[in-house]
Amino acid sequence: MTRAQENRVFNFSAGPAMLPVEVLERASEDMLDWNGSGMSVMEMSHRGKEYVSIAEKAEADFRTLMGVPDNYKVLFLQGGASAQFSMVPMNLLRGKTHADYLNTGHWSEKAVAEGKRYCKVNIVADTKGSKYTTLPDASELSFSKDAAYVHYTPNETIAGVEFGYIPETGDIPLVADMSSTILSRPVDVSRFGVIYAGAQKNIGPAGLCIAIVRDDLIGETLPGTPVMFDYKTHADNGSMYNTPPTYAWYIAGLVFEHLLAKGGLAAMEAINQRKAQKLYDVIDNSPFYSNPVDTTCRSWMNVPFLLNDSALDKAFLKEAEAAALTSLAGHRSVGGMRASIYNAMPEAGVDALVEFMNDFARRNG
Ligand SMILES: *Cc1c(COP(=O)(O)O)cnc(C)c1O
Repeated sequence: MTRAQENRVFNFSAGPAMLPVEVLERASEDMLDWNGSGMSVMEMSHRGKEYVSIAEKAEADFRTLMGVPDNYKVLFLQGGASAQFSMVPMNLLRGKTHADYLNTGHWSEKAVAEGKRYCKVNIVADTKGSKYTTLPDASELSFSKDAAYVHYTPNETIAGVEFGYIPETGDIPLVADMSSTILSRPVDVSRFGVIYAGAQKNIGPAGLCIAIVRDDLIGETLPGTPVMFDYKTHADNGSMYNTPPTYAWYIAGLVFEHLLAKGGLAAMEAINQRKAQKLYDVIDNSPFYSNPVDTTCRSWMNVPFLLNDSALDKAFLKEAEAAALTSLAGHRSVGGMRASIYNAMPEAGVDALVEFMNDFARRNG
């Protein structure tokens, strides 16, 4: 191992988050001279043949990984997932006056607030009463007939709840903010009108947002929609209407290549399920720790947990840090701890955290 490899920590940050070490090493090899071009990818014109080949391969690999059908565009955008909170209503209202939203956490709330600036928002399910520790049952959902779309957040990054099913919306386009769950397992893209995700959790570096948009939903925007907020602008120009986030797109491409080599999303699903189960097992089997989320909807990606004696929180974080387990503090709105364990968190990182948690409980229990 090189010194740099030895110094690497297990970083449990919710995002920006860990990247596969193989990807970082490859990027490091390519840094000064990509493939004999004599330049770094960061220095390339986005319209040059080298960069276009990088961009096209990344999209092709992403389509293979996700099984994106031909009637969907894959757009490489900026503005983060947060810009999609506005782009979705601007592009999908298409003459309608209201949309249905599921309010299941912090990120849903943000999407709802932005949706309200453009249309009447109908909340079809709201789990705020449970402090966002539950999700509605599929049978409890009923959608309004003339809704322009249904928006939901399959994985809520802060409270750590995740849907185990895809809502059945019939002909109404279903929109999913998959920022913290995309690429964690296979998903049937054909069930969705739009899927979007900020890259910095499970795709690649910050600065890139990927949107998968069904063709028939592109081309009719609200009057006054800025050109950069029109899906058609990006669809018609191969996501190169303006300068895209070239380096983030390239690194995302390396991540896609890496995931395909590991066996694709079915392989990731098995690993992710096992990693999450190991953590939930420690929490459930110890009187020292607890997780407030209903067991039917626990996230595989973001595992929040509490020490039953919160006076020990500071010592827990300090000792974890000393053991090279970093960024475990829970979101400031909920406190406690949160372990984000996206694809790039090695299983060895989860094993190390499990060992640390058991040891800390023994010493302090
Ligand atoms: C992080 C996150 C966002 C915000 O993403 P940005 O790229 O920072 O705008 C939105 N939704 C979910 C579910 C997230 O986890």
